Order: sequence, then C-alpha cells, then structure tokens
Amino acid sequence: MKRTLITGAAGFLGSHLCDRFIAEGHHVIGMDNLITGDLKNIAHLFPLERFEFHHHDVSNFVHLEGKLDYILHFASPASPIDYLKIPIETLKVGSLGTLNLLGLAKEKGSRILVASTSEVYGDPLVHPQNEDYYGNVSPIGPRGVYDEAKRFMESITMAYHRHHGLDTRIVRIFNTYGSRMRLNDGRVVPAFMGQALRGEDLTVFGDGSQTRSFTYIDDQIEGIYRLLMSDYVEPINIGNPDETTILEFAEEIIQLTGTNQKIIFKELPQDDPLQRQPDITRAKEILNWEPRVHRRDGLQKVFEYFKSLSPEELQKKEHRDFSSKQ
Ligand code: UDP
Repeated sequence: MKRTLITGAAGFLGSHLCDRFIAEGHHVIGMDNLITGDLKNIAHLFPLERFEFHHHDVSNFVHLEGKLDYILHFASPASPIDYLKIPIETLKVGSLGTLNLLGLAKEKGSRILVASTSEVYGDPLVHPQNEDYYGNVSPIGPRGVYDEAKRFMESITMAYHRHHGLDTRIVRIFNTYGSRMRLNDGRVVPAFMGQALRGEDLTVFGDGSQTRSFTYIDDQIEGIYRLLMSDYVEPINIGNPDETTILEFAEEIIQLTGTNQKIIFKELPQDDPLQRQPDITRAKEILNWEPRVHRRDGLQKVFEYFKSLSPEELQKKEHRDFSSKQ
C-alpha cells in the first residue's frame, strides 16, 4: 500500500487531498500545526485505519517511521489576511518547512510535490501568465512574505532535484474555491458568501476592475493528482482561465444567492494584483487536464456548503488568535 504524507492536512486544499488519496487506496499521514487549519475538516477521516494525524509544525524537523512513497507539501497560510497576521510563520513554512520536507523525501526516497502559487507572478505584466514568465513581485511589500517564500520553495525544490536527483513536482495554484474554506479568512469567495448570508453589503476593494480566475476545488485536486502521477518536473499552472472582474463577480454572487445586498467600495490593499489568468497550455499538453466545472455550478455548490453552517459559525468574525508572536 502506498504511504503518503500530506502537510497542511487540516486546511482547505490539504483536507480535500486527504480525501482523494484515501479514495485512491493510500495510507495517508496528515500533518498540521492547526494555526490556520481546523480538525473539523478531517474529523470524518479519524475513524479510518488508513488515516493518521500528526499535530506538528513542519518548520521544525520532521521525523516519520517507515517507508514513504509520496509527500505533498500544502502547509502554509494562504490568504492575504492570514499572512499579514502571521508573516514570520508564513516565511518559515515556505522556506524551512520545505527544506525539512525535501530532506525527508531524500531520506525516504519519496516523490515530493510542493504547492506553489500564482503569487510567484506577483502583479503580472504578462497576461495570461504562462510558466516561463518570471513575475513582478515586491520582496518588501505586505505580500512579499508569501510570494518570496513560495519563490524560494520553487528554487530549493529544483536545487534538490538537480543536485540530489530528487523526484520533485511543482504546482502553481491559481485562486481556488470550495467547501471547507474558512468563512472569515478574508478571501473573496468566503467573504462575499458570508456577507450575502449575513445580510451585509458586499465589500469590493478598489473599483473592482481587478481580475481573477476561479477554479473549483474538484478540478484543482484532479490537476494536482495528475501532476503528481506524471513525470514532469518543471512548474505547471493549475487554474481555470475563465477570468472575471471582482465587480462582476460580486454582482454574480448577489444574483446567485438571491439576496438584495448592495455593493460598497473599500480601499484596494497594497500590491493587490490587477489581473490574473492562467495560461494552461502546459497542463493540457502534459497532463491532459483542463477544468470541467463551470463557475456558476461551482459557486452554487459552495453556497450550499456555506448555507449549511451553523448561525454561530456564520457570525464568527475572527477565527484564530494570532496574537502570539514568534
Ligand atoms: N476582494 C474584495 N473584497 C473582499 C475580499 C477580496 O474585493 O472582501 C478582492 C481582493 O482585493 C482581490 C480579489 O478580491 O483583488 C481576490 O482576493 P483574494 O484575497 O481572494 O485572493 P488574491 O487573489 O488577492 O490572493
């Protein structure tokens, strides 16, 4: 039986990956320090013999007994609100955490896939973004802690591949949405859905002319799975090229949720990328992958999920106490 380590297992992408690898018949070892993740996302896996959970921060040395076939490194704060609140932890998990997991992969002879991001392109001057674009990132801006950690993650992963012959994969993940996103993590899908459900106005940052391209979770997980099982070592974009402005997106959510909320405009956060759309030529050619879920259908599903949450969860404004400094 394949043994697979998934870091960030209690998070949004990590928990869906745990489900997928359990369904594929693997023994899954989930690891998380629970700083932004939540055990309720994987509670349904605890009774399974093929699942085990380790409460551990991968920025510290990682030790595991036994063989390990695959490692998927998905531990990281991933929303602007989180990495602004816990910038040092964000830098550490992308750098030291990746280093520790590459070391573990080398020791165990595992294949390792690391979760990179469209943020490596920064505020892109090339549109749509293909994998050969080097990006336009401010190292010292508020997003620098995330963007530069992920860029370092890519560099050190390629170094381990070239220098040690490690079997590595790099996925560049574009905006993804689905169940188990934290309602109050600040990302635009849960933000707008939560506002619509609480009867609040939708907060569009800037004039809403900035664009994003949203991928449904099932498509994202399929792309990651195919990349892991391929033999392709260079980075691959996984995202849905269906691009929208944030203002149109807010209007779409108001229509979909059947609410009469107004749109109000707030200041655009610093370094908020003006445009983002993946070029997925490489994923199509190499992985025979492309997204299948239309945004309208995906948003409907995620709305059903948010609607099913308890009124207390809907009202929670702050999910975690980030006050402890490192
Ligand atoms: N955004 C917004 N209102 C919100 C939350 C986000 O207009 O309440 C905008 C944000 O400024 C950005 C886009 O939505 O332009 C996507 O933001 P998100 O934080 O989801 O991800 P990003 O792609 O910026 O990392």
